[in-house]
Amino acid sequence: MNPDYDAIVVGAGPAGATAAALLAQAGWRIALIEKTPFPRRKVCGEFISATTWPLLRQLGVADSLLEIAGPVVRRVGLYSGDVMTSAALSPNALEQDGGRALGREHLDTLLLQRAAGLGADIRQPWTLSEIAANCGGYDCTIVDKGRAQTRHMRARLVIAAHGSWESGAMPSQSLRCAPRRDDLFGFKAHFVHCALPTDLMPLIAFPGGYGGMVHTDGGRVSLSCCIRRDQLALARQRLPRASAGPAVLAHVADSCKGVSSALHAATPQGEWLSAGPLRTGIRSFGNDGIFTIGNAAAEAHPIVAEGISMAIQSAYLLCERLVSRLDAHRHGAFSRDLLDSIRAEYAAAWHRNFSRRLHVAARSPTCS
Ligand SMILES: Cc1cc2nc3c(=O)[nH]c(=O)nc-3n(C[C@H](O)[C@H](O)[C@H](O)COP(=O)(O)OP(=O)(O)OC[C@H]3O[C@@H](n4cnc5c(N)ncnc54)[C@H](O)[C@@H]3O)c2cc1C
Repeated sequence: MNPDYDAIVVGAGPAGATAAALLAQAGWRIALIEKTPFPRRKVCGEFISATTWPLLRQLGVADSLLEIAGPVVRRVGLYSGDVMTSAALSPNALEQDGGRALGREHLDTLLLQRAAGLGADIRQPWTLSEIAANCGGYDCTIVDKGRAQTRHMRARLVIAAHGSWESGAMPSQSLRCAPRRDDLFGFKAHFVHCALPTDLMPLIAFPGGYGGMVHTDGGRVSLSCCIRRDQLALARQRLPRASAGPAVLAHVADSCKGVSSALHAATPQGEWLSAGPLRTGIRSFGNDGIFTIGNAAAEAHPIVAEGISMAIQSAYLLCERLVSRLDAHRHGAFSRDLLDSIRAEYAAAWHRNFSRRLHVAARSPTCS
């Protein structure tokens, strides 16, 4: 095999852009494929937990991100019915840069630019449309749907960082499941002139779902939530002329005094976004020369607001192992045993770091 790249990374969310940056920094020839043009907004609460900032600093992007990020979150709260309560975060959670929110249109764009700056070959907006194992590597086909162009590329490894929502060519993208009443759909909107205290991130609990609010960049507040399919249908019946986002907001604000007070004089900025259904839990860590990271590997209920952190950390856990175990073999073939043993090490590290978070999130009363 004569590969064009050492690895092709599919998806340039926080997981994929981090992996591309780390491997390019280690001297690997990397292609990063992203189907959507950036900057783009995304269904996400945008909170970046305190534990993520040291990694962003190591990647060389923390200062640029902190310049535009929202204020430090010092208190968490609960808005449910008439209850509006809050508690100070422990000093640990406020160490160094603290936790802050930042629009995905900024975070993802800056991470992608960092990967490009470190030498990754960015293919955007290109979609991975086919992948086939061939002579110890992978033949990949990518398409630019807008310009009806197709390209072929070969790589020794493929890193699946395609997130949760898209079905596609990779084995980790076969997502079709029968609809269930308790499927959760994600919604998100930005607001300006919001009366939410700047240091507070309340959890919102409402019939059939949960969500959160937080001050993000540019004086905006992001409101994101997950709602069950059956409650979404009821909310839409109640406001048949409204589109889904405003119908969900009316449902949430009706039952949640904290939300209606915070948004009393607020104005929406930009479109409502939606995605789903969520498929939480552990999916797979890949097979042969394909490795999965971020949401492609596993997804926690967003109630813990840790998905970005897990995406970035999982890229670190995998790439550190790929570099240390494969660098010596970079010009020869990778045996299946070697790849399987790296995957086993990566999976064990992943479980040590994240399993507990996934289980705790799934047990929370608003998620089960
Ligand atoms: C309602 C809600 C609120 C949330 N709030 C928070 C929060 O406040 N804090 C937090 O940390 N996490 C939050 N999350 C979770 C967080 O958004 C995700 O965990 C995170 O985006 C996962 O990152 P990723 O890089 O794995 O995938 P993604 O960010 O989904 O990136 C995947 C990328 O792959 C691209 N792609 C897919 N298929 C292909 C293909 N075939 N070819 C090329 N490109 C492809 C997509 O276009 C996308 O850009 C929330 C999630 C939801 C649903």
